[in-house]
Amino acid sequence: MNNTRRSFLIRSAGVVSALALARTANAADPLPETDPTAQALGYKADASKVDKAKFARYTAGMKCSNCALYQGAAGSKSGPCPMFGGKLVDANGWCNAYSKKA
Ligand code: SF4
Repeated sequence: MNNTRRSFLIRSAGVVSALALARTANAADPLPETDPTAQALGYKADASKVDKAKFARYTAGMKCSNCALYQGAAGSKSGPCPMFGGKLVDANGWCNAYSKKA
């Protein structure tokens, strides 16, 4: 298992309980940045606004639309993300669970 996959799995395990809470909301709702899980993972609808001091792994070019977890159609403005119970995340957003699409 490579380091990227391992770190992704570790981060994912850390938010399991938060995900259970997130699933109580309607899946098709947009994910607000004020959502507690979103805040814990540093989600921003505009990736350029990520707190780079807190989330040093973020680099320019990372965004939901090229994340392996993003479930939006190609070219969509937003799409469901399983990290947030299927809530809609912005195609140009980012969170600390980002995993580059292969
Ligand atoms: S896991 Fe990926 S698609 Fe979901 S919010 Fe984070 S960066 Fe975006």
